[in-house]
Amino acid sequence: MATPVLAQTAQRPVYDTTKVDGTDNVYIFRYENHQAMFVVTKAGVIVTDPISPRRPAAKAYIEEIRKITPAPIRYVIYSHSHYDHIGGGQRFKDLGATFIAHKNAKARIEELKSADVVVPDQVVDKKKVIRFGGTTLELLYVGRNHSDSSLVMRLPKEKIIFAVDIIPLQGLPFRVMADTYLPDLEESLKKVNAMDWDRLIAGHPGPGGRQIGTKDDVRNQLAYLQDLSAAVKKAISEGKNYADAVKEIKLPKYEQWSGYGPYLPLNIERYYDYIYRGI
Ligand SMILES: [Zn+2]
Repeated sequence: MATPVLAQTAQRPVYDTTKVDGTDNVYIFRYENHQAMFVVTKAGVIVTDPISPRRPAAKAYIEEIRKITPAPIRYVIYSHSHYDHIGGGQRFKDLGATFIAHKNAKARIEELKSADVVVPDQVVDKKKVIRFGGTTLELLYVGRNHSDSSLVMRLPKEKIIFAVDIIPLQGLPFRVMADTYLPDLEESLKKVNAMDWDRLIAGHPGPGGRQIGTKDDVRNQLAYLQDLSAAVKKAISEGKNYADAVKEIKLPKYEQWSGYGPYLPLNIERYYDYIYRGI
């Protein structure tokens, strides 16, 4: 999801770390156009996605953590199975971290055997609660959506969630929405919106480099999917083929979102396949 956002934020450093306002210990590590949450506790550090596929982000990530605390890095929790978020975790493994992911993520990782992806040590099915160093972190499975292995991580005290690629911040879903389940994605968005939280840390910054979202972002993403679905349904009912649907469907309400130019035609094709062919 890199190109459109990077164009607007070209002045950023390659990576940076931001403490989330109003918290004592919740941080966002961003490397290029990916970001991940980490939580510093008295007993050690809880890291989420390594975001280091075939690039030296993990080295920077660990150096950034070491500027804040010498405490051990105890956990690495994967948001879902996609390599652009979970690649490159070996440096954390070498430090003794325990890796946790949804059970479907572990199955996928074991099947594909990428040398760049550390296999999880522990798995989550529906829910797991980590109570560690005075912090509570819930790992919640809300069903199939952007993948079949996405965990929503919720800090109940801080009312913060970390959810990756399910709720792009003012952004279209990536390309042809590969690995995404329709219409389950919409159900997941409704479930996430019904949870108790105020702020969302996403897996990619939105337009202008915005790193944190709100429930408005969930509602807007749901509205986009519903508007897209309705527009594709209408085009199909009017007998339009793929090419005409792609040419004629415009959703100007979302023009300013990242990915609108390159991804809208591909998102249209995904919904066309689902509505017209049931695939
Ligand atoms: Zn993904």
